[in-house]
Amino acid sequence: MDARLEAIRDTVLARNPGEAEFHQAITEVFESLGPVHDRHPEFLEAAILERLCEPERQIIFRVPWTDDAGRVQINRGFRVEFNSALGPYKGGLRFHPSVYLGIVKFLGFEQIFKNALTGMPIGGGKGGSDFDPRGRSDAEVMRFCQSFMTELYRHIGEYTDVPAGDIGVGGREIGYLFGQYKRITNRYESGVLTGKGISWGGSLVRPEATGFGTVIFTQEMLKTRGASFEGQRVVVSGSGNVAINAIAKAQALGAAVVACSDSSGYVVDEAGIDIALLRDVKEVERGRLKDYAERRGGASYVEGGSVWDVNATVALPCATQNELDGDAAARLVRNGLLALGEGANMPSTRDAVAVFQEAGVLFGPGKAANAGGVATSALEMQQNASRDSWSFEHTEERLTDIMVGIHHRCASTADEYGDPGNYVLGANIGGFVKVADAMLAQGLI
Ligand code: GLU
Repeated sequence: MDARLEAIRDTVLARNPGEAEFHQAITEVFESLGPVHDRHPEFLEAAILERLCEPERQIIFRVPWTDDAGRVQINRGFRVEFNSALGPYKGGLRFHPSVYLGIVKFLGFEQIFKNALTGMPIGGGKGGSDFDPRGRSDAEVMRFCQSFMTELYRHIGEYTDVPAGDIGVGGREIGYLFGQYKRITNRYESGVLTGKGISWGGSLVRPEATGFGTVIFTQEMLKTRGASFEGQRVVVSGSGNVAINAIAKAQALGAAVVACSDSSGYVVDEAGIDIALLRDVKEVERGRLKDYAERRGGASYVEGGSVWDVNATVALPCATQNELDGDAAARLVRNGLLALGEGANMPSTRDAVAVFQEAGVLFGPGKAANAGGVATSALEMQQNASRDSWSFEHTEERLTDIMVGIHHRCASTADEYGDPGNYVLGANIGGFVKVADAMLAQGLI
């Protein structure tokens, strides 16, 4: 890392102790930014990096609620409003027991660059709670969401901060959150949240967008080697919204998707994942992958273990951060991996990224490859602002254009900085320069 940037990085790490994921996200971005600062010393003079690493606002609040047995439960809520240089803070809410400030800050930091890369007018933010929705009834989830919004509502708005979903937050949760926001404020402010239901301000393609976008980006990478998804053997991690829609899109493009996973294990289905059954088990019944394997002849379920043991030519990690380490990366490379697109946020450890880059694997980092979700959220905001709703075809076309555009921006930036094919460099520099220019223009804020 550039010595000037390393000094700034060390100060940031010391100011934010104990936040390992945030440190990792910062270090990865800083490693790309040396050459930009050689060309743009004004960014250093204006302390752009120091400002970028300090969120504009951080909100932490108590979320009290009662469970179905009438017991009082207390969770912690977060919203980190990281950067508004390009637009209102934009980013999802994650409900998962692992959520703490360091997770929200890593996600919010990534979101700044991701949102910039989409070319849409959105800043970066993220939020969530350590609430664990697993095993909770709809009524419990509703009471939790209502309590969460009873504090959050005062901090958000269509021109201020626009939350959406992430792990543990889907259409059901967005519905409860929107209902409570509307009740408290007495405003039908559609653009305050994205990922809404289609009959009340949501956008077609938003549910599919992250997974679809990841596959479209990966397809663009494959094209640079004269390949496509046709005939590829694909392994996907996760089995939530991103994974399911990535599987569907990869299959539509002619790939064989032979494995996916959940937090208990993974399923291998050499005949190709049955997407209708997977949707039933995961989205309708909110069940486990084990149930899929039991009902699907020929599929086998491997309790524990790593889905990255299954050989593939294309890997799509769509579960969570740091789910793919250096050893797993080495196994994938040995087994003939050609390309990897990150559907999750920071699923590959820094060791894993180094292994892929060393081996010449096409590696699409999450802030580029999974930007289709937030980009379609921006399309949802656009429809809300014009009180319009677009067709599936039109919206998917917009998403495709955006993903192809992000790929182009990353690839041409990597070329410009003398490291062709380095999408990590391209994404980090491409996102950073846009935000840094806007921050410079807007003065010391
Ligand atoms: N949580 C998603 C992400 O990581 C989407 C955020 C949004 O739509 O605002 O980008």
